[in-house]
Amino acid sequence: MTRAIWFIIKVAIVVAIAVWLANHPGTVSVNWQGYVVETGFGIAVLIGVAVLAAAIVLYRLARAIIGAPRSLGRYRRSRRRERGYKALTRGMVAVAAGDATTARKMARKADGLLNEPPLTMLLSAQAAQLQGDDRAAKEYFTAMLDRPETAFLGLRGLLTQSLKAGDRVEALQLARRAQSLQPNTPWLLGTLYDLEARAGEWAAAEGTLQQAVQAGAINPDLGRRHRATLLLERSFEAERRGRSDSALSHAQAAHDLLSGFVPAAARAARLQMAIGKHKNAAKTIERCWRVNPHPDLTSAYREVVSSYDPMNRVKLFEKLRNHAPHDVESLLAVARAALDAQLWGEARAHLTKALEARPSRRVYQLLAELERAERQDEEAARAWLAQAANAPADAAWTCTACNAVSPSWGGLCGHCGAFDSLEWKAPTVSLSLMTPEHAPAITHQAAEPASGQPGIAPGGQIAPQAAT
Ligand SMILES: [Zn+2]
Repeated sequence: MTRAIWFIIKVAIVVAIAVWLANHPGTVSVNWQGYVVETGFGIAVLIGVAVLAAAIVLYRLARAIIGAPRSLGRYRRSRRRERGYKALTRGMVAVAAGDATTARKMARKADGLLNEPPLTMLLSAQAAQLQGDDRAAKEYFTAMLDRPETAFLGLRGLLTQSLKAGDRVEALQLARRAQSLQPNTPWLLGTLYDLEARAGEWAAAEGTLQQAVQAGAINPDLGRRHRATLLLERSFEAERRGRSDSALSHAQAAHDLLSGFVPAAARAARLQMAIGKHKNAAKTIERCWRVNPHPDLTSAYREVVSSYDPMNRVKLFEKLRNHAPHDVESLLAVARAALDAQLWGEARAHLTKALEARPSRRVYQLLAELERAERQDEEAARAWLAQAANAPADAAWTCTACNAVSPSWGGLCGHCGAFDSLEWKAPTVSLSLMTPEHAPAITHQAAEPASGQPGIAPGGQIAPQAAT
């Protein structure tokens, strides 16, 4: 509607000008080099307008012809980029689908078409990895280290490779380099902490663990447990260096952090005992017993009360039992002390209760011992031992990563080298029982790599979105 009105107005103006020119006739005379042209004023205006229009058309035509090569180049470049990104996308889809051949083909195509090394290098490396060509992948990742914008991605790729190859020394160096570039990356902090712990760098691991918990890579409860384990390892290290005060303070700190953590309580109690603080040692064990009655605590408590005569030892064990009166471990602890004191009736009463509550190999073995000691009844003892042989395995320090069973607790699994992986539980499948000489409780060198490598999870393959 508005356009129609405008058109009418324009026509009206032109008509008005034409009428005005018709009403005011005149002539225009041009005299140039002897040529004389005379015409009416209206005609002269028309010619002027026509010449102006022709000039504009000519100017535009000339510009289009001169600029043609440049716009053709622009068009070609944009087509090239479009094709490059298409190849890149198809390559990434192929990586996600596990199609190595297409991934590599598209990586080459994208590399030829695009001038975007960060993206094409990553795709090329992933394609090589997918094809199992670790050497080529390593070359791409190493080349990525030269550019600031791709260095972190390159380090991540190399780190993943060295973890896969089980080279933890190199992995630790790479993780530290990567952390200097991006200090607060959660997965990296989790990996770095695990590598430091496995390498026995307890103090460094403690610092990194704290950062990892703050960054949300490790949940706070698990973080506390790991920290207690690190403190215990620092305690062992201090003891080896002859620093008994530091050994105790670290063990005490671990116990204060987690009062129900059996290895911390047992160790703190033994160290307190070593400096003559028997009362404190007993209190430490009792505090843990309330939360977590455990055979390792029973052993430590026996050391604490060893200076007493057998009858008094039973009394002290009964005091310990009162901190968790209904637990089978309490019954077994008192039964053991009663056996040592030759209080047969009391031993039998506790063992019977334990048998009702939870039959186990240890209960059967203690019953066999009682039959032999009290009545010299070899037949009854053999019957209990036969039951013990058929009973399911008792709980033991079992590695959650490799299922190996360790005779004593340690921060590192002596079989697979995993950190803080020992749990007190019944082994699930056939287990590789380690004899003490094969199971160093504390090792400073990372053990042979486990097939599973739990705890290290920087991502097997680098996801395409890692580029962002
Ligand atoms: Zn293990």
